[in-house]
Amino acid sequence: MRYEGNIFRPPSEAYSLLVQVTVGCTHNKCTFCSMYKDKQFHIRKLDDILEDLAWARRHYARVERIFLCDGDALALSVNKLMPILNYIRENFPECERVTAYARAEDALRKTDEELKQLYEAGLTMAYVGAESGSEKVLEDIHKGETRQQLIDGVKKIEASGMKASVTFISGLAGKAGWEEHAIESGKMISEMSPSYVALLTLIVDPSVPMAKDIESGKMELLSAEEVMKETLLMLENTNVTRKCVFRSNHASNYLSLKGNLPDDKERMMEQIREAMSNHMFKDEMFRAL
Ligand code: SF4
Repeated sequence: MRYEGNIFRPPSEAYSLLVQVTVGCTHNKCTFCSMYKDKQFHIRKLDDILEDLAWARRHYARVERIFLCDGDALALSVNKLMPILNYIRENFPECERVTAYARAEDALRKTDEELKQLYEAGLTMAYVGAESGSEKVLEDIHKGETRQQLIDGVKKIEASGMKASVTFISGLAGKAGWEEHAIESGKMISEMSPSYVALLTLIVDPSVPMAKDIESGKMELLSAEEVMKETLLMLENTNVTRKCVFRSNHASNYLSLKGNLPDDKERMMEQIREAMSNHMFKDEMFRAL
């Protein structure tokens, strides 16, 4: 299996076969993100992708999950994705799911029928980084997508049959904007109603533009206690009416939370209050990306 540069995947794809179909991220401008800064976005040749899949078929007896890398593989057109999905379906009959990172705009550029076609060909989930529901925060971090585009993109993915797993980042607005970030993120989750929400906590790599804002004092990072206060406010403002699996159990989080919204909302809020009153947070030295 051949890879170009560092490879990233969601935690839930730890046991998946990772196949690079694109290299880098089409946007690559978010101020907090260091993942693909060393890569110029390009699409891999179909022959190379199929050769890698054939290699995997020869070497692995059972492949139940495949994750298409890199940053937003859904940027590929349907014409380019379909031969890959068809090859997987024909050669990996045991494969239960194929997933990929996506930007909301990748979904918005496709028609409803195209997304449905991809879903029916086996692409069952897209991981979308919303990061924040606040328009101001999205502008500040150079997300390159508006609040409405993120909501519409996620809704469109879910309407196709695919599941959307949407990421938000605690602490992303620093001390100046935490309340708006929390309230608007909660409202955004309620409005987009994704199947999954993953809440990470900000860890700033020294190489990213946001690190300069922290160094200059333009942005002040939240303490563990403040992050928990922000999460509490976000959950308070999250009111979904259909099941949403909520996970905040990433290595970057100060407190591990798991539950299904709306049923477990009160329990998770109580867990946060309890951790705050006992100061029971993960030590800074154990946090990682
Ligand atoms: S956060 Fe996502 S969209 Fe933004 S630069 Fe990183 S990979 Fe690209």
